[in-house]
Amino acid sequence: MNSAPSPHDGGTPLAPTRPLLARTVAELRTLSARLLEEGAVGGTPRRLALVPTMGALHEGHGHLVRAARAANDVVVVSVFVNPLQFDDPADYDRYPRTLDADLELLDDAGADIVFAPEESEVYPDGPPLVRLSSGKLGEKFEGASRPGHFDGMLAVVAQLLHHAGPPPLAPVPVEYSAYFGQKDAQQLAIVRRMVADLAYPVRIHAVPIVRSPEGLALSSRNRFLSPEQAEAALVLSRALFLLRDRAQAHEPLMVDDAEALIASQPLVDLDYLEVVDPDTLEPLAFNCRETPFTGTALVLVAARVGNVRLIDNMPLGDS
Ligand code: AMP
Repeated sequence: MNSAPSPHDGGTPLAPTRPLLARTVAELRTLSARLLEEGAVGGTPRRLALVPTMGALHEGHGHLVRAARAANDVVVVSVFVNPLQFDDPADYDRYPRTLDADLELLDDAGADIVFAPEESEVYPDGPPLVRLSSGKLGEKFEGASRPGHFDGMLAVVAQLLHHAGPPPLAPVPVEYSAYFGQKDAQQLAIVRRMVADLAYPVRIHAVPIVRSPEGLALSSRNRFLSPEQAEAALVLSRALFLLRDRAQAHEPLMVDDAEALIASQPLVDLDYLEVVDPDTLEPLAFNCRETPFTGTALVLVAARVGNVRLIDNMPLGDS
């Protein structure tokens, strides 16, 4: 277990040890209010950031937290494996839980507070009755193969944004941001849309994908790949880089070539490769085949390698 001090340690001043561990919403709010107050200068707004994660952290998450650290005064990272976004209970059960290692990585990345609640803290009355719907944005791509995934994701992100936001009695004005990885492009588009549609007072920031030196997008699921499968999975990023290079040269994307490249790898079972509008995720038929590439787009790809489902993507143009 982590040695981070509990906020109930008799009101002693906050120890220099970071990150501080909050197990309940009340602890999170107490710690956040104290850190926002510490170091406040006059009425200058304090910058507060949330980085939601499911733990099993790797350098991709580390990068996300560093981006938040660089631009904010107080950085909260949530670590919660949300059962509502798993359509397959076996997938939920085997999702890696590595809190001790996560706390070390988060200490290194400069997180101030780690909010790691039990399920009973997040869903005290069991699964929530009232749900958010991700609408048609959540039905395609990942949503098509994981029904309910994005609605379940929204259930927790909506709550986390609320819990980690400016405490009700914040002693100073607060500017609130949340950081999401471009890695989960569909999730990012849906969260942006939720924040806009429901007028959440938070700024959403996207952080580029962190890859292995060979090009594999870092993912908590990569640990389930054998060395041979990890090597085979590189074909996904190669296909994306091929399309990126063509887009940069304003050449026709010829998406079929990228599909053929992936199909040439027998260990990789392609689910989809699609060029879409980055906000609406609607396919961009005109931009992906013979006509020279212009404008902005996003290529989404998903595949199965053995038992592991991998997703990756590549923004094209200025997107
Ligand atoms: P997860 O815990 O895997 O659901 O991810 C938590 C956050 O980290 C999400 O916003 C992800 O998009 C982001 N993330 C995961 N992998 C990467 C990566 N390789 N590069 C950048 N961000 C990532």
